[in-house]
Amino acid sequence: MKIPSQNNVLISACLLGIKCRYDGADSLNTELSEIDSDVENRFIPVCPEQLGGLSTPREPCEIESGSGADVLDGKAKVKGRETSSNFTENFIRGAEQTLKLAQLMGCKTAIFKCHSPSCGKGEIKRNGKVVQGNGVTTELLERNNVAVETVE
Ligand code: SF4
Repeated sequence: MKIPSQNNVLISACLLGIKCRYDGADSLNTELSEIDSDVENRFIPVCPEQLGGLSTPREPCEIESGSGADVLDGKAKVKGRETSSNFTENFIRGAEQTLKLAQLMGCKTAIFKCHSPSCGKGEIKRNGKVVQGNGVTTELLERNNVAVETVE
């Protein structure tokens, strides 16, 4: 059996219309849905927060201070916006499981949803405002040579 060579690209599942966001909705990006039909680029959908054991819907979360790098380095926590519950362990587990998936599937790149405390790159949201920093999963992937791009 001959299998065509493909680039496996990790992608935030919500961008493909999977209803995995904290509010039970998706963040469908129609442009990406069209690229998915390209056999050269096989999308591997992933939701780090679900992989970290969180339910859908779930309480929206924010990195309390700093960035995903600080969370991985034990200097910051991820907390629920409504109850201030500590979800740091779930976010780190989700990042680790996503990295494992990337390594299993040979993914060198990822396309993630912008501004998420898991998937954001360069910018995340805190208290409704955009602040600098990577999400937790993006930070772990980039530390392990998986290049991340984000889209709306
Ligand atoms: Fe989408 Fe990432 Fe949030 Fe999951 S964790 S809903 S994939 S932005």
